[in-house]
Amino acid sequence: MALRTRRGTSAPTRSAHCPHTRRPPVLSEHHNRVPQTTTRLTGQPTSGGVAIGRAVHLWPTPPAPPPPPVPVRAVDESARLKTAAAATAAVVRELREQTRARLGEAKAEIFDVQLALLADPEFLDRVHELIRTRAIAASAALREVTQAFTEELSATEDERFAARAADLRDLAERLETALACDATPAPEEFDGDVIIVAPELTPSQTAQLDLAHVRGFITELGSAHSHAAILARGLGLPAVMRVPQATTIIPRDTTLCLDGTTGEILLSPSLEQISACRKQLAHQSKARIGCARHPHRPSQTADGRPLPLGANVGRLEDITGAMARGAEHIGLFRSELSYLGRNCPPGEEELSTLYGAMLARAAPHAVTIRTLDLGGDKQVEALTPVHEANPFLGVRGVRLCLQQEVVFRAQLRALWRASVRGRLKIMLPMVTVVAEVRTVRKWLAEERAGLVSRGEPVARDLPLGIMIETPAAALTADALAREVDFFSIGTNDLTQYTMAADRLNGQLAHLQAAHHPAVLQLIQRAVEAAHRHGKRVSVCGEMGSHALGLPVLDGLGVDEISMPPDLIPEARARLARLDHAANVRLARECVGLGSAEQVAAAVAATSA
Ligand code: PEP
Ligand code: MG
Repeated sequence: MALRTRRGTSAPTRSAHCPHTRRPPVLSEHHNRVPQTTTRLTGQPTSGGVAIGRAVHLWPTPPAPPPPPVPVRAVDESARLKTAAAATAAVVRELREQTRARLGEAKAEIFDVQLALLADPEFLDRVHELIRTRAIAASAALREVTQAFTEELSATEDERFAARAADLRDLAERLETALACDATPAPEEFDGDVIIVAPELTPSQTAQLDLAHVRGFITELGSAHSHAAILARGLGLPAVMRVPQATTIIPRDTTLCLDGTTGEILLSPSLEQISACRKQLAHQSKARIGCARHPHRPSQTADGRPLPLGANVGRLEDITGAMARGAEHIGLFRSELSYLGRNCPPGEEELSTLYGAMLARAAPHAVTIRTLDLGGDKQVEALTPVHEANPFLGVRGVRLCLQQEVVFRAQLRALWRASVRGRLKIMLPMVTVVAEVRTVRKWLAEERAGLVSRGEPVARDLPLGIMIETPAAALTADALAREVDFFSIGTNDLTQYTMAADRLNGQLAHLQAAHHPAVLQLIQRAVEAAHRHGKRVSVCGEMGSHALGLPVLDGLGVDEISMPPDLIPEARARLARLDHAANVRLARECVGLGSAEQVAAAVAATSA
């Protein structure tokens, strides 16, 4: 989804949500008018730390309207169509080659129909003609011609022609994707320090922001478990969510002091308040630098059980900071962030350069790159399914990768090509069944063979792991452990699917408890299964960084934990005060309890 900031209005007039369903705003002074004096708002603290900045409103762009009937420059549109056709031909030829190598010439021939259609002057010439005569956009002309052709083909009785119609539609989709690729929106640019105020933030929006100037986030909706919240924590930026009518109450350009730890927001703060906030900011930066100076105390419990702590990152730039905070490895690189906020997926070349640079920067430590995890709240127009009633239960994670074979295979090749630059591990998101792992293993082997035959240097082998994020994976962990090299437990999703509580729904916060015994039992089952097969288990969900989660996960026997970089120093200090033997007893007790509240009480009792 593209971004739009509203620069010209001081009182926003539209909201993405029905005003009748809103709760009254939490205000200590003025309500719904431009504040002259300081106003205090509160919301749900979602990402810790303080920030000072100017309010900038961020609105979701409404769904793309039908292609404009306005005149366009026919010369430009025709040129775009030619470029898109050439790019599409290259993609189809590559698909044909891959299919031939795997399934033989006969199966590969199905792509010849699309190549023939691309070369057929009747088809593309008609599109060019429409652009010229009607001065419409290339994508609009393409849709019109495709519709006319498919109607003609479908109207015949001959089944072969009907099949051609499907090929044509498939080809037209590829052409549209290629046309969209040269229209990727530029990131929004800001001046000075800004705090984003939005009805809701999506991961795509977050990925498109000019992070050099963004100091924090305020949203009307959202939940601590959303990817936008996780990204904010990963970036070390404070966030306060669920601030009713924030976009209405906070006029643009208002100076704000934001406290992501308490959930407090000051609008038009006094000079004293700004100076107090600045002091806190200075203290915050000093503490971060201090952590960076003494990061390398061993990550182990007081009685000596090592529990290496890694970092969850999404950008190359995050690695240096993570290492400075004492990360012993990169336990989760969310590779999908490179795909968000752009119309065209990154290619093999771009990805292999990025992954290689990450491995080199993290060396000698290992980097676990999670393969593309789109779907759910991470939508990319060109890749994710258009209409799904329940996107979190839909074509998400590895399911999408298996559907988007060309894009996924490009990522696999990029991983292999980077594999010689450091210690790389790869892991698959949202695995439900063994068959998904087997297919990816097969594709990985095929891509490696292809690269070797081209003389590319690649590693001999790559450890392949999976995320345990679905109850199905946890319950069949024995079967999965036979197929993979390691597990990493994604407690964010495992909790969502076990508790049947949408992680984006802030009203279900009471159910989004990773320490609920139902989730703990699944973690226990996965850990025991992995260990039976001699495989290691990491936890990369947010639970690993929670005060409640650390002792219980250690007690359940997980072998390593990965978390947002800023939280590593504190977790390491906390771990050093814990006793593994006591944690084992605690974990045994917790899995047998009846509620998250009882688990919280049991953990509190041991640390008292
Ligand atoms: C998880 O689900 O716990 C996880 C780490 O993945 P994400 O939060 O990116 O879905
Ligand atoms: Mg997940």
